[in-house]
Amino acid sequence: MKTIRHIIATMAVTFSFFGNMSAQNVPTLALNNGAVMPQFGIGTYNQTNDQAYDGVKYALQHGYRHIDTAHAYGDEEGVGRAIKDSGIPREEIWVTSKLWMNDYGDGKTLEHIDEMLDRLGIEYLDLLYIHQPFGDLEACWKDMEKAVELGKVRTLGISNFDRDPALIDKFATEMKIKPAILQLESHPYRQALEVKEQCAKYNIVLEDWFPLGGQMSQGALFRDPVILEIAQAHDKTPAQIILRWHIQDGRSVIPGSKTPAHIDENIDIFDFELSAKEMQMLRSINKEDPFFKMPGQSVRRMSENNNVVPSFN
Ligand code: NAD
Repeated sequence: MKTIRHIIATMAVTFSFFGNMSAQNVPTLALNNGAVMPQFGIGTYNQTNDQAYDGVKYALQHGYRHIDTAHAYGDEEGVGRAIKDSGIPREEIWVTSKLWMNDYGDGKTLEHIDEMLDRLGIEYLDLLYIHQPFGDLEACWKDMEKAVELGKVRTLGISNFDRDPALIDKFATEMKIKPAILQLESHPYRQALEVKEQCAKYNIVLEDWFPLGGQMSQGALFRDPVILEIAQAHDKTPAQIILRWHIQDGRSVIPGSKTPAHIDENIDIFDFELSAKEMQMLRSINKEDPFFKMPGQSVRRMSENNNVVPSFN
């Protein structure tokens, strides 16, 4: 089984993405471990298994090749069914998931990775994150490194480590396999420029969650006058301008949606370009102000006291 997984993972690296474009002209990013990832994908936070199934299957059939899920979302099973039923070969799809705090631990993490693969019904993950920077991170990471050696995972990432930037330095310099990606809340109002610069030193790519502001923003970015002005100039929607900004700023972006109209709209951003002046205008609305306001202590308490994966189903 180990050898088969190795062969599949290597073939995926070699054959899945040609040049620097993938389906629907989606650009790709070359990661610090040699893997090539579609820069744009779909997020599945806060969806039931059936919603994730419908949304991801629709997305795959309409040009998406990158899917973001997590153990904590409780929808990996729906995502896995969608991959299987989409008719798209597995090696053409970039599949990401994340380990929740109760998955961390020496030996335990490897078992939880196997369970994750079972839930998704796939042989390997393209990208696996530590979801939150609390708990036994080193034991978890060492098991994640073993999973890479076993061909069960291709790329390792850290999520929300911008809460503790010293940890980014530690993981980038002390671990056998360094992180290739940091997933964090980022959008035009929270561009995370300091952390972006810190990650650039290690060739760590940023992948932005709440790229449109998330549900908590109640559409605040869509009403921003600068974004509206640029949208009008290009005959695009505010969401398309925001997503195009993420792309041109060199970040990976995974807008969440289960609505076919939004899924179509969000990927329709590769036929126009923002000018340097427009990129500058978007830089100027940065407030470094996240929409997710829960303090680190509360997230940590949630992690430590709650050994149960939050369910949205
Ligand atoms: P988002 O900014 O992508 O916004 C999603 C919301 O915007 C949904 O309510 C959706 O219906 C709506 N929407 C989508 N497309 C739209 C459009 N074109 N016009 C108007 N509204 C639109 O926020 P998100 O989904 O929470 O974040 C993206 C993904 O990032 C998630 O789905 C998840 O996969 C991931 N994520 C990771 C973390 C983490 O801790 N690592 C946290 C949150 C989310």
